[in-house]
Parts: sequence; C-alpha cells; structure tokens
Amino acid sequence: MTNNYQYKYCPSCGEVLSKKGDNYYLCLKCDFKFYITVSTSVGAIILNKKNQVLLDKRNHDPGIGKWGIPAGFLEKGETATDALSREICEELGLKVLSFEYFGTYPGLYKFQNIDYPTLHIVYKTIFPENQNIVLSEESRDFAFFDFDKIPLDEIGNEDHRLALVDLCKTK
Ligand SMILES: [Zn+2]
Repeated sequence: MTNNYQYKYCPSCGEVLSKKGDNYYLCLKCDFKFYITVSTSVGAIILNKKNQVLLDKRNHDPGIGKWGIPAGFLEKGETATDALSREICEELGLKVLSFEYFGTYPGLYKFQNIDYPTLHIVYKTIFPENQNIVLSEESRDFAFFDFDKIPLDEIGNEDHRLALVDLCKTK
C-alpha cells in the first residue's frame, strides 16, 4: 500500500512542514506536531430474502459509474451503526437499524490528490422488504446481485471489493 500525502504547510503557523514519518509531520518553526490519523467509514452488506446483495452505482468521483455497497464516513460523535443507518437512509431512503458485524478493511481514499488512510467497518443487515428504495443524487442506479454475479471488477473502492470477496466465501 503506497502513501502519497501532500501536506506542505503547518496548520498552526503556515511554515513549511517537515515530514518525519509515514504519518507524522513536524513544524520546525513552532514545534506543531501533525499526525495523519485514520478516517473511519462504514458500509452495509444488505441481503434480500433471495440472499442477493444490494449494490448501488456511484454518481460522483471517486469511482463514478462504479458499483459499491452503501457506505460513508463517520461524523463527529456518531457510533458506527448510527452512521450506517444515516448513510443507508441518505443513499437509499431505507430505514435500517439492526446490523451484524462483518469485518474491517484498511484502505486509502483519494480525495483532492491526497490519499487518506481509512478503516472501513462493514456490517451485514437484512433488506426491509416492506420499504421502497429511493435513490439520492449520490447514486445513479441500484441492483440486487447473486453472489456469483457480483461485478467484482466494476467495484469502485478496493475496501468494498475486498468485503464482497469475503462475502462470496461465506456461501
Ligand atoms: Zn508551525
């Protein structure tokens, strides 16, 4: 896994930062210590009663036009499952509150030319058959896939792909 951080200036005094390690910068002028911390994201493997997994197709970069599981970054103060309920509601218009832990996936998320280190926490849940999917503008399409039909080479995020590979092994 390669890192490509491009932080240049001290957030405290604006002086040029000195890189001291893979995740650590030091300002030689004001002694400000700047650590690159891991960002936490959550994702959901949503299974219907035919044991098919729900994927949605991204409408924005990174990964525009690629498939993924419903997912997003935690906001300050949220638990992992609170964040996942919020993301599923925002992306799909579904109310889902009950989750089963599936696995964690370290990764990198490229945004504005910076590779942010991430930890993707994935949960499994059951599709609420009595609710209808209402896509947000984040997604352009959705579909349910049998495990052996999951388009593993059209998944936008590597951490989503690895979770789906693990899902296929559970059959
Ligand atoms: Zn400084």
